[in-house]
Amino acid sequence: MTRSGYDVVVVGGGHNGLVAAAYLARAGRSVLVLERRDHVGGLAISAEAFDGVGARLSRYSYLVSLLPSKIVKDLGLDLELRTRRYASYTPVAGTGLLVDRHDDVRTAASFRAVTGGEAELRAWRGFYDMVAEVARRLAPTLLEPLLSARATREVVGSAQAWRDLFERPIGEVVAERFADDTVRGVVLTDALIGTFADPDVDPAANRCLLYHLIGDGTGDWNVPVGGMGAVSAALADAARRAGAEIRTGTEVVAVDPDGAVAFVDAGGAERTVRAGHIVVNTPPAILAGLLGEEPVPAEGAQLKVNMVLARLPRLRDGAVRPEEAFSGTFHVNEGRDQLAAAYRQAAAGRIPDLPPCEVYCHTLTDPSILAPELREQGVQTMTAFGLHMPARLFRGDPAGARERALAATLRSIDAVLAEPLEDCLLRTPDGRVCLEAKTPVDLETEAGLPGGHIFHRDLSWPFAEEEREVGRWGVETAHERVLLGGAGARRGGGVSGIPGHNAAMAILTG
Ligand SMILES: Cc1cc2nc3c(=O)[nH]c(=O)nc-3n(C[C@H](O)[C@H](O)[C@H](O)COP(=O)(O)OP(=O)(O)OC[C@H]3O[C@@H](n4cnc5c(N)ncnc54)[C@H](O)[C@@H]3O)c2cc1C
Repeated sequence: MTRSGYDVVVVGGGHNGLVAAAYLARAGRSVLVLERRDHVGGLAISAEAFDGVGARLSRYSYLVSLLPSKIVKDLGLDLELRTRRYASYTPVAGTGLLVDRHDDVRTAASFRAVTGGEAELRAWRGFYDMVAEVARRLAPTLLEPLLSARATREVVGSAQAWRDLFERPIGEVVAERFADDTVRGVVLTDALIGTFADPDVDPAANRCLLYHLIGDGTGDWNVPVGGMGAVSAALADAARRAGAEIRTGTEVVAVDPDGAVAFVDAGGAERTVRAGHIVVNTPPAILAGLLGEEPVPAEGAQLKVNMVLARLPRLRDGAVRPEEAFSGTFHVNEGRDQLAAAYRQAAAGRIPDLPPCEVYCHTLTDPSILAPELREQGVQTMTAFGLHMPARLFRGDPAGARERALAATLRSIDAVLAEPLEDCLLRTPDGRVCLEAKTPVDLETEAGLPGGHIFHRDLSWPFAEEEREVGRWGVETAHERVLLGGAGARRGGGVSGIPGHNAAMAILTG
C-alpha cells in the first residue's frame, strides 16, 4: 500500500530521479518514486534488443563522462567506469588520425600522416590543455548553488578560455586555431552531439562542446561495465537501500503545485498522493502537461543505430587494427566541411547525403554484456550515433524516413571501411540481421521523449543567466514545491545525476 503522504514524491525513475531519491532518503526523508514504464533507468538502460541474441546493449545512452565521482562516492555506488586507451580514430583517405592516450609518439606520427606536419598537433594540445584546465576548475561548481556569469568567469580564470569557449562562436574559434578540415571536424563533433546547430553562429554549439569536455573535471568518456543498465541498477539499489519506495508501471497524470500527485497505478486504478516536495524527472514539456501549462517545444537531431557484429569490419588503413580503431570514438565523415554540408541539407528538410556519425564498440572494453558463447565466438556490439538528423525529417513518414536515414548512414560508414558493414552483422536464430535504428520520433513514441531530444531540451549555460537565479540550484520552477530534477534543468543533460543531486540539495538546504 502507498501511504497517503511522503516528504518527497519523485515523478519518473530515470537515473536523475533515482539520484534525487537516494540523496533524499539517505537524509531521512520519506520518498516515493513513480515510474511510468515497467523498469527504471529512463534513457540509461540496457536491453536485449535482438531475439535469441544474448547481448545486453546500452539501448540509448552508452558512455559516461558527466557523472561526478562525488555522487558515486556519496551514494556508495557499486559501479565500474572503465577508461578507454584510444580517444578517437578518424579514417581519412587510406590513412587515419589516431589519438592514443598512452602513446604520444604514435599520436604525433598519426597527426603528421594526416595533416602533413606538426602545427595541428601543437594546436590540438594547446586547445585541449586549455579545456582541461577549464574542466578542472568548473566541474566542482556543477554540484554547488549557481554562480553568476561574472563569478564563473573568475572560476575559469583565463580570459582567453572564457572568450573562446563562452563568448565567441566555437566554429569561428576552431577555424582560427586549426587549419586541417579533419582535425577541425573531430573537435567540432563534440559541439554537435544531440544539438542541431550551426557552430559558426549558434552558442548552443558552445554549450554542447563544454558539457562534452568538462565531465567530472576530466572530460573523459568512460565505459560503464555491464552497460548503461548497470548505472541505473546501482542507483536504484542505492535509493532502495536508503529506504526510498520505487513503483514502476505507475504513470503520473497530474501534478498540483500544492503538493498533490495524481497517478494511475499498475492495476489501472487512479490514486492521489500528497508530497511536501515534488521532484520531476520528466522532460520539461511533460512537466508542463502535468501542471496543465503550455509545453515548451524541443527537437532532437540524432539517429542511434544499435548493432551486433559477428566480427569487426576491415579498415583501409593498415597502420591501425580494427580493435584499436573501434574501441574509441570512430569518426565517420565528420570533417568540418562534411558537418557543414550535412547541417545545410538537414536544415533544408533533407536527410544528409553522407550522414556524419560516430561509431564505437562497447565490447572491446567490456565484454561482460555478452553471453559466454557470444564472447567465445568473438562477437562485438557496435553503436553508431548520427548527427544532424532532426525530428522534423521523420514527422511525415516515420518508418520510410527511418529506412532512408539508416541506409544513408550505412552508406556513409561503408565509404570509410574496406568492406560493407552489413557483411559483418550477426543474424538472430531466425535469420534477421542484428540492427536497429532509433530516430528522434522513435524516441518520442517509445521512450516518451518530446521531440526525441536526448537532453530533454537544449543545454543551458552552467551559471545563472538572471540575477534571481544566483545562489539557487537551477532546478526551481514557478511553483515552490515543484522542482525539475531531470536533464532539462540548468546543468542537466547526459547521464550525470547532477540535476537529481541538485534537486535533492534544493530541498535539503531550503
Ligand atoms: C540515443 C541516445 C544516446 C545518448 N547517449 C548518451 C551518452 O552516451 N552519454 C550521456 O551522458 N548521455 C547520453 N544521452 C543522454 C542521456 O541519456 C539523457 O540526457 C539522460 O539519461 C536523461 O536522464 P534523466 O534521468 O534526466 O531523464 P530520463 O532518462 O528521460 O528519465 C525520465 C523518466 O521519467 C519517466 N516518465 C516520463 N513521464 C512520466 C510520467 N508521466 N509518470 C511517471 N514517469 C514518467 C520516463 O519513463 C523515464 O523513466 C543519450 C540519449 C539518447 C536518447
